[in-house]
Amino acid sequence: MIGFFGGSFDPIHYGHLKTARAIKKELALSQLFLMPCKAPVHKDALQFSNKQRLEMLNLALIEFNDLKIDTREIDRQTPSYTIDTLKHIKEDYPNKKIFLIIGQDSFNTLETWKDYQQFGDYAQPVILPRTADTQKIHTGIFFSKTPLVDISSTQIRNKIRNQQDLSGLLPENIIEYIHKL
Ligand code: ATP
Repeated sequence: MIGFFGGSFDPIHYGHLKTARAIKKELALSQLFLMPCKAPVHKDALQFSNKQRLEMLNLALIEFNDLKIDTREIDRQTPSYTIDTLKHIKEDYPNKKIFLIIGQDSFNTLETWKDYQQFGDYAQPVILPRTADTQKIHTGIFFSKTPLVDISSTQIRNKIRNQQDLSGLLPENIIEYIHKL
């Protein structure tokens, strides 16, 4: 059983990393891949470049060496739909049970994702909680019991802009990397 956890990771933080580690344990996955998305084409959509986001993911894996990176989306020429990514993953791992890890806020917009009704044909969606609010019950969807980590990339980008302390929000080697940019 393997899992894929997609995101912009702009930048990656302990909210991603700690919940990824926890869900890998919770589901007893043999591998969990962080899968950074390709930046949207219009400029300024993301703070960090594709190269920088990938470099920060690699730095994160020095501490979180139980996690892996899948670069299939960020390596593409153009952004891709999740459904197409899932089809390719299924082709690459035909005999594995595949989990698609989605944060609760992303899940709340799922109905706007192309062909989301077909996701279950390729992977089992698993939802990570982000707030303590009661969640809607959806059949066929697994809600993770991983503890909440109240950190977001938006919060980190705001702190960088205001030159505030980033300690405890993301690994120290990434903080050093950001300060050197
Ligand atoms: P932003 O603040 O820019 O929206 P983000 O912190 O939500 O970014 P993303 O890279 O957009 O980070 O998130 C990738 C995935 O990780 C999404 O499914 C999101 O819901 C989930 N996620 C992000 N932060 C957390 C967190 N603290 N706990 C659980 N899931 C998270």
